[in-house]
Amino acid sequence: MKTSLLTPNKDPMGCAIADYFEKGKAAKLRVFSSQFDEDEIPVSQLFRTFDEMPELEQEALRLAEGKILDCGAGSGCHALALQDMGKEVEAIDISPRSVEVMQKRGVNNAYCINLFDENYLQKFDTILMLMNGSGIIGKLENMGAFFTKMKQLLNPGGCIYMDSSDLRYLFEDEDGSFLVDLAAGYYGEIDFRMQYKQVRGEAFDWLYVDFQTLAYYANENGFKVEMVKEGEHYDYLACLKMV
Ligand code: SAH
Repeated sequence: MKTSLLTPNKDPMGCAIADYFEKGKAAKLRVFSSQFDEDEIPVSQLFRTFDEMPELEQEALRLAEGKILDCGAGSGCHALALQDMGKEVEAIDISPRSVEVMQKRGVNNAYCINLFDENYLQKFDTILMLMNGSGIIGKLENMGAFFTKMKQLLNPGGCIYMDSSDLRYLFEDEDGSFLVDLAAGYYGEIDFRMQYKQVRGEAFDWLYVDFQTLAYYANENGFKVEMVKEGEHYDYLACLKMV
């Protein structure tokens, strides 16, 4: 499990966020993967307001209560929306440039911290992991370490709201049959690398997890999981609580 921070010269998303914040526009934020064709993240979407957010995210923000952690907060869109709702939130991200932008945008408690840093030991009532927030877990083999960290950070009775997608639709045939190479590992484990202008990031692992698999690992690690809401395209919002 990586516990480091990004350096500004290897922080393409942070650079894109900083450009968009300063100039109101940004160049292409390019996404590469060994498993897919090149893609792009529209940088403006990282600055979405509450009204522009998908239903699943709006629901998570409504349900969040007490002391809230926005984990992997990016430009701070969720943290700002929560502050507007009068809620108490701390935002963390491994991207130094994103954290700078969050602070400039008025996020009160924005810190450049890796979730898995062993010295990060605050207590929260709600932990938010949004925009395929399960991604931060990286790979299924990190589930144990992830839940251990969550137990350290959650107050009794607290919960995690996490959204993800079941990538099975990428492997489904037109007749609905499901073609995955079982020897190739879990189909939601994706490697990505990003680039913004000349700034190239390191490759990283990003986990998309279907609800059943998440429920299996949650149970194994002393959590129970509930489906809060399903999205329109294999996506969902889950609530995870310590048993
Ligand atoms: N939640 C934001 C950004 C999503 S992109 C939004 O919905 O717009 C995912 C973010 O998670 C990136 O900003 C990335 O830098 C951050 N991140 C990745 N791994 C992390 C970790 N281990 N700890 C904290 N932040 C992390």
